[in-house]
Amino acid sequence: MTSKFTGLTVAQICKAIDTLTPCMDDFVYVYDLVNDFYYISKLAVERFCLPSNQFHNVIENHAKFVYPADIPMLQQDLEDLVAGRKVFHDLLYRWVSVNNDPIWINCRGFVVRHENTPLYMLGCINEIGARQKADNVSGLLGVTSLQAYFSTGREKLPNGYLLRLGIDDFKEINEKLGIDYGDLILKRTAECITACLLPDQKLFRAVADEYLIINFSERSTADAIEQYKHIRQTIDTFIKENNYEAIYTISGGILKNGQVNGCSFSDAMKFSEFSLNEAKRHGKNCCYIFCREDYEKFLRKRTLSQLLRRAVTHNFKGFEAYLQPLVNTDTNTVYGAESLMRFHTDKLGTVSPSEFIPLLEETGLIIPVGKWMLNEAMKFCHEIQKTIPDFKISINISYVQVIKSNIIMEILNAVKYYHIPPSTIIIELTESGLVDLDSRVIKLWSRLKENGICLALDDFGTGYSNFHYLNELKPDIIKIDRTFTIKAVSNDYEFKLLSLMSNMVHSMDLRICVEGVENTNELSRMKELLPDYYQGYYFGKPCPFNEFQEKFVS
Ligand code: C2E
Ligand code: CA
Ligand code: CA
Repeated sequence: MTSKFTGLTVAQICKAIDTLTPCMDDFVYVYDLVNDFYYISKLAVERFCLPSNQFHNVIENHAKFVYPADIPMLQQDLEDLVAGRKVFHDLLYRWVSVNNDPIWINCRGFVVRHENTPLYMLGCINEIGARQKADNVSGLLGVTSLQAYFSTGREKLPNGYLLRLGIDDFKEINEKLGIDYGDLILKRTAECITACLLPDQKLFRAVADEYLIINFSERSTADAIEQYKHIRQTIDTFIKENNYEAIYTISGGILKNGQVNGCSFSDAMKFSEFSLNEAKRHGKNCCYIFCREDYEKFLRKRTLSQLLRRAVTHNFKGFEAYLQPLVNTDTNTVYGAESLMRFHTDKLGTVSPSEFIPLLEETGLIIPVGKWMLNEAMKFCHEIQKTIPDFKISINISYVQVIKSNIIMEILNAVKYYHIPPSTIIIELTESGLVDLDSRVIKLWSRLKENGICLALDDFGTGYSNFHYLNELKPDIIKIDRTFTIKAVSNDYEFKLLSLMSNMVHSMDLRICVEGVENTNELSRMKELLPDYYQGYYFGKPCPFNEFQEKFVS
C-alpha cells in the first residue's frame, strides 16, 4: 500500500526558485528524478553555457556545460543518486561560463524521498572562485560590487570620472617588510584615499594593490588630477607620521565617464587598467588621462608583437630581406648593398622597420629573426658574387643580438657556409646604441676584425658622436645619417659642422658613406664633403632580391 506524498511538488519548487532568484547570487535548482527534469534559477543562464534554465535528459545535457575533465566524476555521482545509493550530493567541480572559462562551483543538494523512492533533489550551487564582493584587509567593497554600482549609475551623468590608483612597486614592500606589514600599508592607503573622497564618490578595491574611485557627478578631469594630487599628499603625510618605515608612491589612471559611454564593464576596466599602467610606464608617481589614440597604439603594438611571434614560429613567413644599392663615389658604380628587413602581414599590411625592429628588440625576437636575416643576406650575396665576385653586403646588427646571443659564431658560421670572402661582409652597428662601450661590443668588434670582416658605425651623428669611440673601435666606415644630410643641405652651420667631422674622420683614415641622398641638389652639396660612398633613393630604393638582380647585377 502506498501513502500520498505530502511535501512540495516539483512545480511548486520551480515557482519558489523563480521567486527567490532576485534575492540571491547563488543558483538554486531542483532535479526531478522521476521525470528526469532539471530546473535552475534563470540567472544561471547568464553566467554559464546552459542550454536553458530547464531541460530533460539531465545527465546527458550536463555534458554541454560541465568542464569536460569533470564529467565522469559528476556522472558517477548523479547515477548513484538516481539509483538510491546516495542521498546527499556535495561536489566541487567546474562549469563552463558563457565566456568559455572553467568556473569552480560547489554543488550541494539532498534527495527527497517518498517511502523508498527518490523523488527529487533540491539544492544550491555557489561559485567558489573570485567574485569577491568585499576585501577584509582594506575594508573596501570589491570589483563585483563596483560592477553593480557601475551599471546603475553611469547612464545618468556622463561627466564624472573613474580614477584607478595603484601603489608603485608594492611587491617590494611585501618583500622587504613582510606580508603582514604589506597588509597594513594596504589598509592605511585605503584610509588615506577615503579621507580624500568627495561626498558623491565611492571607493572600491580593484585588485591587490589597486583602488578605484568612481564619481558620477559633474566633475572634470582637472578635478580628477587635483584629487590624485591630494591623495598623494595625504599618503606622504602618512609616510612621515609613520617615521618613514615604508616609503612608497602611488600612480593614477583617469578615465572620463564619457569615454566609456556604451562600453561594457569589462572594457571600462581594461581602459582604466591601461591608464594606470601608462602612468607607471611614464615613470610612476604620476597620473595619466586615458587617450583613445594611445590605447589604439598599445593595441597595435600588442597585435604586432603577436604577428611577429607567429611569423617566427612559422618559418619566418612575412619577413623579407630587401637590398639597397651602395655606390662608390670614385667610379659611380654599385659596389654592394645594404640588407634591410621588411615585414608583410595580411592584417596590418607592410610594417616599417622603425616600428617593428624596436618591438623585436623588446621581445628578444630579434635574436632568431636577426639570425634568419643574416643568412638571407649572405645567401643573396653568394648569388650576386657569382656575377660580381667582390660584391659587398652590409648587414645591420642590433645590440640585443650582441648582448644576448652568440652573434660572433653566427656570423662566422654563415660566412663559412655560404663561402663568402670575409672582406666582402660589412657589419653595421648603430652609434646611438653606443652609450657606453660595452666590453661585449669591443669583443665582437675585435673578433670580427681578426677574421677580416669590415665594420661600419651606422647613424653617425645621431648619438653621442664621441670621437673617442672612433679611436677605440676603429670602424672601417662611418655612415652619416639622412637627418644630418638634410640639415647640412639647408643650413650652412650644419654643413660646416659636417665638413669638419668628415675631415676628422678622413684624417683618421676611415671611409665615409653619406646616407639618404634623394636628389641632385642633395648630391651636389654632399659631393663637397668628398665622401667615399653614397646610399639613397637617388641611386635606388631598397627592393626585393629579384628586382635588385635585374636592376643592378645583370
Ligand atoms: P638604417 O640602418 O639607417 O637604414 C637606412 C634607412 O634609410 C632605411 O630605412 C632606408 O630605406 C632608408 N633610406 C635609404 N635611402 C633613403 C633616402 O634617400 N631617403 C629616405 N627618406 N630614406 C632612405 P628602413 O629600411 O626603413 O630601415 C630603418 C631602420 O631599421 C634601419 O636604419 C635600421 O636601423 C633598422 N633595420 C632595418 N633592417 C634591419 C635589420 O635587418 N636588422 C636590424 N637590427 N635593424 C634593421
Ligand atoms: Ca644600417
Ligand atoms: Ca643609417
